[in-house]
Amino acid sequence: MHTLIIATHNQGKLKELRALLSGLDVEVLAIGDVIHREFCVVEDGNTFEHNAIKKARAVADVANMLTLADDSGLEVDALGGAPGVRSARLAGEHATDAENNAALIALLDRIDASFAPFKARFRCVLALVWPNSYRTELVEGVCEGHVILSRRGTRGFGYDPLFIPEGVQGDDRTMAELSDDEKNRISHRARALKKLRLVLEPLS
Ligand code: IMP
Repeated sequence: MHTLIIATHNQGKLKELRALLSGLDVEVLAIGDVIHREFCVVEDGNTFEHNAIKKARAVADVANMLTLADDSGLEVDALGGAPGVRSARLAGEHATDAENNAALIALLDRIDASFAPFKARFRCVLALVWPNSYRTELVEGVCEGHVILSRRGTRGFGYDPLFIPEGVQGDDRTMAELSDDEKNRISHRARALKKLRLVLEPLS
Protein backbone atom coordinates (compact mmCIF):
# COMPACT_ATOMS: atom_id res chain seq x y z
CA MET A 1 0.00 0.00 0.00
CA HIS A 2 1.28 3.50 -0.89
CA THR A 3 1.28 6.35 1.59
CA LEU A 4 0.21 9.75 0.32
CA ILE A 5 0.60 13.02 2.18
CA ILE A 6 -1.79 15.88 1.44
CA ALA A 7 0.06 19.19 1.40
CA THR A 8 -2.54 21.54 2.84
CA HIS A 9 -3.40 23.30 6.07
CA ASN A 10 -6.92 23.97 4.75
CA GLN A 11 -9.22 21.64 6.69
CA GLY A 12 -12.00 21.99 4.09
CA LYS A 13 -9.73 20.79 1.28
CA LEU A 14 -8.31 18.02 3.47
CA LYS A 15 -11.75 16.66 4.34
CA GLU A 16 -12.88 16.70 0.71
CA LEU A 17 -9.68 15.14 -0.65
CA ARG A 18 -9.83 12.37 1.96
CA ALA A 19 -13.41 11.55 0.90
CA LEU A 20 -12.51 11.70 -2.79
CA LEU A 21 -9.52 9.37 -2.29
CA SER A 22 -11.60 6.78 -0.44
CA GLY A 23 -11.82 3.41 -2.11
CA LEU A 24 -8.19 3.57 -3.24
CA ASP A 25 -5.73 1.36 -1.43
CA VAL A 26 -3.72 4.38 -0.30
CA GLU A 27 -2.97 5.54 3.25
CA VAL A 28 -3.75 9.26 3.38
CA LEU A 29 -1.81 11.47 5.81
CA ALA A 30 -2.05 15.17 6.66
CA ILE A 31 0.99 17.46 6.99
CA GLY A 32 0.68 17.43 10.77
CA ASP A 33 0.94 13.61 10.85
CA VAL A 34 4.44 13.79 9.37
CA ILE A 35 5.99 17.23 9.89
CA HIS A 36 6.04 18.17 13.55
CA ARG A 37 7.03 21.80 13.23
CA GLU A 38 5.50 24.90 11.70
CA PHE A 39 5.56 24.44 7.94
CA CYS A 40 4.55 27.10 5.47
CA VAL A 41 5.04 27.54 1.71
CA VAL A 42 4.75 31.01 0.18
CA GLU A 43 2.18 30.84 -2.64
CA ASP A 44 3.68 33.52 -4.87
CA GLY A 45 3.03 31.98 -8.29
CA ASN A 46 0.79 33.56 -10.93
CA THR A 47 -0.82 30.25 -11.82
CA PHE A 48 -2.55 27.43 -9.96
CA GLU A 49 -0.07 25.00 -11.57
CA HIS A 50 2.97 26.89 -10.26
CA ASN A 51 1.62 27.04 -6.71
CA ALA A 52 0.41 23.43 -6.65
CA ILE A 53 3.82 22.13 -7.80
CA LYS A 54 5.64 24.41 -5.36
CA LYS A 55 3.58 23.18 -2.39
CA ALA A 56 3.84 19.52 -3.38
CA ARG A 57 7.62 19.64 -3.93
CA ALA A 58 8.25 21.44 -0.65
CA VAL A 59 6.34 18.83 1.34
CA ALA A 60 7.73 15.89 -0.69
CA ASP A 61 11.25 17.14 0.11
CA VAL A 62 10.70 17.34 3.85
CA ALA A 63 8.48 14.27 4.25
CA ASN A 64 10.23 12.16 1.60
CA MET A 65 6.83 10.82 0.56
CA LEU A 66 4.48 10.83 -2.37
CA THR A 67 2.68 14.19 -2.00
CA LEU A 68 -0.58 15.64 -3.29
CA ALA A 69 -1.13 19.42 -3.33
CA ASP A 70 -4.23 21.38 -4.35
CA ASP A 71 -4.17 24.95 -5.59
CA SER A 72 -7.59 26.29 -6.34
CA GLY A 73 -9.73 29.39 -6.44
CA LEU A 74 -12.69 31.27 -7.78
CA GLU A 75 -12.61 33.12 -11.12
CA VAL A 76 -15.32 35.74 -11.66
CA ASP A 77 -15.71 36.92 -15.28
CA ALA A 78 -16.93 40.41 -14.33
CA LEU A 79 -13.70 40.84 -12.33
CA GLY A 80 -11.45 39.68 -15.17
CA GLY A 81 -10.92 36.29 -13.54
CA ALA A 82 -10.17 37.61 -10.03
CA PRO A 83 -9.69 36.60 -7.29
CA GLY A 84 -8.12 33.53 -8.98
CA VAL A 85 -4.83 32.50 -7.39
CA ARG A 86 -5.42 35.20 -4.74
CA SER A 87 -8.72 33.68 -3.59
CA ALA A 88 -7.44 32.78 -0.13
CA ARG A 89 -6.01 36.28 0.36
CA LEU A 90 -8.59 38.58 -1.30
CA ALA A 91 -9.15 40.46 1.96
CA GLY A 92 -5.45 40.27 2.94
CA GLU A 93 -2.95 37.74 4.31
CA HIS A 94 -4.55 35.30 6.78
CA ALA A 95 -8.05 36.59 5.97
CA THR A 96 -10.94 34.42 7.15
CA ASP A 97 -13.49 32.95 4.73
CA ALA A 98 -16.08 35.47 6.00
CA GLU A 99 -13.69 38.38 5.33
CA ASN A 100 -12.92 37.11 1.82
CA ASN A 101 -16.66 36.67 1.13
CA ALA A 102 -17.30 40.25 2.27
CA ALA A 103 -14.45 41.54 0.07
CA LEU A 104 -15.87 39.74 -2.97
CA ILE A 105 -19.36 41.14 -2.33
CA ALA A 106 -17.88 44.66 -2.00
CA LEU A 107 -16.09 44.31 -5.37
CA LEU A 108 -19.23 43.04 -7.13
CA ASP A 109 -21.42 45.68 -5.49
CA ARG A 110 -19.52 48.27 -7.54
CA ILE A 111 -20.39 46.57 -10.82
CA ASP A 112 -23.56 47.43 -12.75
CA ALA A 113 -26.27 44.98 -11.67
CA SER A 114 -27.25 44.48 -15.31
CA PHE A 115 -24.15 42.26 -15.58
CA ALA A 116 -25.75 39.83 -13.12
CA PRO A 117 -25.83 36.87 -12.86
CA PHE A 118 -22.10 37.03 -12.31
CA LYS A 119 -20.69 34.09 -14.21
CA ALA A 120 -17.85 32.38 -12.36
CA ARG A 121 -16.06 29.10 -11.92
CA PHE A 122 -14.05 27.26 -9.32
CA ARG A 123 -10.79 25.88 -10.69
CA CYS A 124 -8.61 23.27 -9.01
CA VAL A 125 -5.16 22.05 -10.02
CA LEU A 126 -3.81 18.99 -8.27
CA ALA A 127 -0.10 18.18 -8.33
CA LEU A 128 1.05 14.69 -7.40
CA VAL A 129 4.81 14.70 -6.80
CA TRP A 130 7.15 11.82 -6.07
CA PRO A 131 10.07 12.54 -3.73
CA ASN A 132 13.64 12.56 -5.09
CA SER A 133 12.75 12.12 -8.78
CA TYR A 134 10.22 14.97 -8.66
CA ARG A 135 8.08 12.99 -11.12
CA THR A 136 4.99 15.20 -11.37
CA GLU A 137 1.43 14.53 -12.50
CA LEU A 138 -0.82 17.59 -12.97
CA VAL A 139 -4.59 17.52 -13.42
CA GLU A 140 -7.25 20.23 -13.49
CA GLY A 141 -10.95 20.35 -12.72
CA VAL A 142 -13.47 23.15 -13.23
CA CYS A 143 -16.95 23.77 -11.84
CA GLU A 144 -18.95 26.44 -13.68
CA GLY A 145 -21.64 28.53 -12.02
CA HIS A 146 -22.39 32.04 -10.82
CA VAL A 147 -21.86 34.20 -7.78
CA ILE A 148 -24.59 35.81 -5.67
CA LEU A 149 -24.23 38.82 -3.38
CA SER A 150 -25.55 37.39 -0.11
CA ARG A 151 -24.31 34.29 1.65
CA ARG A 152 -26.50 31.19 1.87
CA GLY A 153 -25.68 27.90 3.57
CA THR A 154 -23.30 26.72 6.25
CA ARG A 155 -21.51 23.72 4.75
CA GLY A 156 -18.25 23.59 2.80
CA PHE A 157 -15.71 26.39 3.08
CA GLY A 158 -14.30 29.43 1.28
CA TYR A 159 -16.67 31.01 -1.24
CA ASP A 160 -19.18 28.11 -1.15
CA PRO A 161 -21.98 30.28 0.39
CA LEU A 162 -21.75 32.71 -2.56
CA PHE A 163 -21.48 30.20 -5.43
CA ILE A 164 -24.35 28.54 -7.28
CA PRO A 165 -22.96 25.66 -9.32
CA GLU A 166 -24.37 24.49 -12.63
CA GLY A 167 -25.40 20.91 -12.89
CA VAL A 168 -27.42 20.40 -9.72
CA GLN A 169 -30.76 19.77 -11.29
CA GLY A 170 -33.92 21.56 -10.29
CA ASP A 171 -32.67 24.05 -7.73
CA ASP A 172 -30.47 27.06 -7.17
CA ARG A 173 -28.74 26.02 -3.98
CA THR A 174 -25.32 27.43 -3.24
CA MET A 175 -22.39 25.07 -2.85
CA ALA A 176 -22.72 25.61 0.93
CA GLU A 177 -26.29 24.28 0.82
CA LEU A 178 -25.29 20.98 -0.84
CA SER A 179 -24.54 17.85 1.17
CA ASP A 180 -20.91 16.70 1.22
CA ASP A 181 -21.78 13.93 -1.25
CA GLU A 182 -23.52 16.33 -3.61
CA LYS A 183 -20.54 18.71 -3.63
CA ASN A 184 -18.15 15.81 -4.11
CA ARG A 185 -20.04 14.74 -7.24
CA ILE A 186 -19.74 18.05 -9.10
CA SER A 187 -16.91 20.08 -7.60
CA HIS A 188 -13.76 21.25 -9.37
CA ARG A 189 -11.77 19.17 -6.87
CA ALA A 190 -13.81 16.05 -7.58
CA ARG A 191 -13.37 16.51 -11.33
CA ALA A 192 -9.61 16.93 -10.97
CA LEU A 193 -9.33 13.93 -8.66
CA LYS A 194 -11.30 11.76 -11.04
CA LYS A 195 -8.50 12.29 -13.57
CA LEU A 196 -5.82 11.60 -10.97
CA ARG A 197 -7.45 8.28 -10.08
CA LEU A 198 -6.14 6.97 -13.41
CA VAL A 199 -2.62 7.53 -12.06
CA LEU A 200 -3.33 6.45 -8.48
CA GLU A 201 -5.27 3.27 -9.17
CA PRO A 202 -2.34 1.35 -10.68
CA LEU A 203 -0.22 2.32 -7.63
CA SER A 204 -2.63 0.94 -5.05
P1 IMP B 1 -5.16 28.10 -1.96
O1 IMP B 1 -5.33 27.00 -2.96
O2 IMP B 1 -4.62 27.59 -0.66
O3 IMP B 1 -4.42 29.27 -2.51
O4 IMP B 1 -6.59 28.66 -1.56
C1 IMP B 1 -7.73 28.35 -2.25
C2 IMP B 1 -8.83 29.31 -1.88
O5 IMP B 1 -9.80 29.26 -2.95
C3 IMP B 1 -9.60 28.91 -0.63
O6 IMP B 1 -9.08 29.53 0.51
C4 IMP B 1 -11.00 29.35 -0.95
O7 IMP B 1 -11.15 30.71 -0.66
C5 IMP B 1 -11.10 29.16 -2.45
N1 IMP B 1 -11.61 27.80 -2.76
C6 IMP B 1 -10.93 26.76 -3.30
N2 IMP B 1 -11.73 25.68 -3.40
C7 IMP B 1 -12.91 26.05 -2.88
C8 IMP B 1 -14.13 25.34 -2.68
O8 IMP B 1 -14.27 24.12 -2.95
N3 IMP B 1 -15.13 26.05 -2.14
C9 IMP B 1 -15.02 27.37 -1.81
N4 IMP B 1 -13.90 28.05 -1.94
C10 IMP B 1 -12.84 27.39 -2.49
